[in-house]
Amino acid sequence: MIPLRQNIASMKGYIPGYQPPDIASWIKLNTNENPYPPSPAVVKAILEELGPDGSALRIYPNASSQKLREAAGELYGFDPSWIIMANGSDEVLNNLIRAFAAEGEEIGYVHPSYSYYGTLAEVQGARVRTFGLTDDFRIAGFPDRYEGKVFFLTTPNAPLGPSFPVEYIDELARRCAGMLVLDETYAEFAESNALELVRRHENVVVTRTLSKSYSLAGMRIGLAIARPEVIAALDKIRDHYNLDRLAQAACVAALRDQAYLAECCRRIRETREWFTAELRSIGYDVIPSQGNYLFASPPDHDGKRVYDGLYARKILVRHFSDPLLAHGMRISIGTREEMEKTLAALKEIG
Ligand SMILES: *Cc1c(COP(=O)(O)O)cnc(C)c1O
Repeated sequence: MIPLRQNIASMKGYIPGYQPPDIASWIKLNTNENPYPPSPAVVKAILEELGPDGSALRIYPNASSQKLREAAGELYGFDPSWIIMANGSDEVLNNLIRAFAAEGEEIGYVHPSYSYYGTLAEVQGARVRTFGLTDDFRIAGFPDRYEGKVFFLTTPNAPLGPSFPVEYIDELARRCAGMLVLDETYAEFAESNALELVRRHENVVVTRTLSKSYSLAGMRIGLAIARPEVIAALDKIRDHYNLDRLAQAACVAALRDQAYLAECCRRIRETREWFTAELRSIGYDVIPSQGNYLFASPPDHDGKRVYDGLYARKILVRHFSDPLLAHGMRISIGTREEMEKTLAALKEIG
């Protein structure tokens, strides 16, 4: 027997969405990736960084990703000391737990939302408490004073789709004795976001990512915005070379091309609204979504049956066996053409 820590031995480990090896033969709507390529400026910047013989790769990257902090700071209106870059926002979610929740201490989040928070807590040996949602999309039974060390709020909520109103999040920030982390992975697809709360509350952290809206899931670039004291703590914990050279070049170029981002997001929102209406017209329940996905359930509330039917037609969506979610599916928004094919398949499956 290897001398594993008990919490590692007993945990199951996170299972990410399926990435099929023969990807070109699928319509892939299961992990909320962007159907459009990244900005052409990103490709250019990566090739420039690489150079003719790749010799730039001999040298370690800038350890603090300083230019990225400056570009993100300029974009969001914060001093760079309020920003940290991460190897995907998953990295910074992990480091927030390591910074704020010791073994045996509690973290909390909404179920359903992003269950990876729970996995990260298990690795740390922290305790996990989850809260449900009410019918009017508020957190059920959230205490007047929540004493957990970190509370993660996914807004817009994934997999369901709605955002929480800023005034409500503002109130939650007051009720949290520990840190309130707003996972705004899908903010660029939404009508509003809660970034301003970082300035208003010292315990609020906002995380963003370039994976979804900027079409860069494969580059692994995320960030957090918080008070400089929080950023300084996270800087002590992260891998010192957490973003490679190509990711750093890609990130600066992507953040500077806001026109491209806006057009991409506009198209996805337009397709999302069209697809929502079409699904409703064939009897599906669809929760109004602020993200690049929607949660939909068929008239017989058998999400698995429809998932299997789509799978047989090489259309991959996400089905969760959790009893709260098994009646539906989370469907990422692809191109208009992909969604037309998906709709035709759904009509065939019935
Ligand atoms: C995709 C996703 C992430 C992870 O983003 P990366 O930046 O790719 O690590 C985090 N939170 C939620 C809710 C997500 O859907």
